[in-house]
Amino acid sequence: LRRASPALVTAAAAKLHSDRRGRRELSAPSRCESLQAAAQLILRDSVQYAELNGLLYGLKDPGADQSAATQTPVAMLPFCIPEKAFQDCVALSPLWNKLVDAVARDVKWLHATLETVAKADPFTGRLLKISKQIHEEGLRQPLMLGIHRSDYMLHSGAEPRCLQVELNTIASSMGCHAFHVEKLHRFVLGRFQEGAVGRAIRGHYGDLKGDDLTKRLPRNVTLEAIPAALSRAQAVYKAQTKGAKDPVVLFVVNDDGRNFADWCFLEYALWEVHNVRVLKKSLKEVAEKASMDKEGRLWLEEEEVAVSYFRAGYGPEDYPSEVEWSARLLLERSAAVKCPSVDYQLVGAKKVQQALARPGAVERFLGPDSAKLRGCFAGLWGLGPGEDDQAIVKLACEKPEGFVLKPQREGGGHNFYGKDVAVKLKELSPQERSAYILMQRILPGLQESVMTRQGQLKVMECLSEFGFYSVYLGDGRTAHLSAHAGHLVRTKAQGVDEGGVAAGYAVISSPFLT
Ligand code: ADP
Ligand code: MG
Ligand code: MG
Repeated sequence: LRRASPALVTAAAAKLHSDRRGRRELSAPSRCESLQAAAQLILRDSVQYAELNGLLYGLKDPGADQSAATQTPVAMLPFCIPEKAFQDCVALSPLWNKLVDAVARDVKWLHATLETVAKADPFTGRLLKISKQIHEEGLRQPLMLGIHRSDYMLHSGAEPRCLQVELNTIASSMGCHAFHVEKLHRFVLGRFQEGAVGRAIRGHYGDLKGDDLTKRLPRNVTLEAIPAALSRAQAVYKAQTKGAKDPVVLFVVNDDGRNFADWCFLEYALWEVHNVRVLKKSLKEVAEKASMDKEGRLWLEEEEVAVSYFRAGYGPEDYPSEVEWSARLLLERSAAVKCPSVDYQLVGAKKVQQALARPGAVERFLGPDSAKLRGCFAGLWGLGPGEDDQAIVKLACEKPEGFVLKPQREGGGHNFYGKDVAVKLKELSPQERSAYILMQRILPGLQESVMTRQGQLKVMECLSEFGFYSVYLGDGRTAHLSAHAGHLVRTKAQGVDEGGVAAGYAVISSPFLT
């Protein structure tokens, strides 16, 4: 208490005291109020812990001080999820791995599925063109590394179950932050068990009087599993490539670099645990500095590149000119292992998610395992010519609150909700609709959460999205690695449609198993 700012302490402590003393005379304080007061008391301690444990974010306008940073937006306390729902999602990781690889290797199906989208959406069109080109030339590097993240929401109902929001196959980020938020929550739940703060926190989680709350936090393996997968890809490349001595892993990052704390820890683990060096470059720098030798091996600043790990390149804004596209093409054509390859990236398209939900589609790739995956599919509908979309478009225009309209984009902030679904659907020509899919709106339950951003807190009714990472390394015949690779929780206020942390909609949390 003494370490927190005096003004905050006085206000919050006064509130907590009056809450306790006045319980008989006054009406009992709502849980929300006592949680707010308790959170205020430990705000500074928790934010300091977060900042000193890697939960940092570069400032939008750093001014003269290029090192200026703020806390990563985080929840002070973890978010409840039934243990069974959590474990069910973990169990799906190897199936997603298998599915992505199988779809990516069926280039004919993949290309045909995206053909109409490519006509309506130039960005997808460009990626498809690269994929066609590298297959026409002959795939130089069949080995592909996937670092995927399947995102779910717990749909309310008689028996709440996780429905998939989407599968990310490129730049599946926030893994390092998620690792550090688990640590933060272990600190907060463990350190502040006593007194009024402890009572408020226990009250928040219901009737768990004698329990050690930290036991409800599952260990997050992101920071072990993801670097281990990158290192494995480097090792397999080295073993397969004559004379490759100590090749590097290239991180393709964007210029602004605000989310540095979410990739630097991967770099440090690669160096400190696996003795693998990382180079971090933008696509523009790759275009300027990288080249391919006669055998197709990729060189950058006199280093051989074994693995190219994309943390940028998933949206049109990352390709402001032909220079960036030339870098992407060079990387794809080269013998470096891509994480992801353009084909893996294309499998993450929303159109593919929808196409896989069609009867028989996921079965084509997974056989008997498909039923397990189908259990988490929400309603998905294709739009545009060839999709027989009249009935669903009519329904979505009449009851738009039951749907989300999604374009082929990544990174948050692109979807349409509520009335806008109907407005947009009416605005689009049938051809233009091909660039979108319709999805059943998932309705997750709400929980009070303490959100912190820029050193301030807000206690709000929130909902969460649960992400499950998986890593896969294979060449179409041999799977060198397939594993679950940790989890992520993103929490946002009720009524906020989008979910991105970087985009400013959500905070990072962790799961509290119930
Ligand atoms: P992106 O690739 O841009 O992250 P998403 O499919 O994850 O696209 O959509 C962005 C956000 O929109 C999600 O994080 C989630 O908060 C919300 N969202 C997406 N689909 C649904 C859905 N079917 N029901 C409810 N919310 C959704
Ligand atoms: Mg995405
Ligand atoms: Mg998403």
